[in-house]
Amino acid sequence: MLGHLARVLRMLGFDTAYYRDEEDMHILARCLRERRILITSDRGLHLLAKGWGLGSVLAPSGRFNVWEFAEEVVRTLKLEGCMKPFTRCPKCNGRMVKIHRDELVGFVHPYVWNNHEYFAVCEECGQIYWEGSHVRRIRRNLRL
Ligand SMILES: [Zn+2]
Repeated sequence: MLGHLARVLRMLGFDTAYYRDEEDMHILARCLRERRILITSDRGLHLLAKGWGLGSVLAPSGRFNVWEFAEEVVRTLKLEGCMKPFTRCPKCNGRMVKIHRDELVGFVHPYVWNNHEYFAVCEECGQIYWEGSHVRRIRRNLRL
């Protein structure tokens, strides 16, 4: 669930790191060093983060609606003004740049290429995105 939440927060344009299988102390140290707010479903880690003076949000431990929880996080942390939807790669957190289709000949399916003048390309992993039905669905989910 938290991996999905990380992707949603990136879609909203937030610089979002996702730590898996890391020691609690390493996670807290990275949050401190990188000036990050922790979001965890681990109550012990959440309390430890608070003890360190870090910002921390406790996520539900079971299944939850990731979009609703992302909205709650944005509202709780008063981040509405910081949202920059579709500026970060949901896969890797890299910044996206707008590229004209002439620079992407042969990199996307001809049907997609013909129907879109501009694409968003991740500077880190090279993933190419375009405003398709999935983006329209995501925009509907962005009720903030
Ligand atoms: Zn990427």
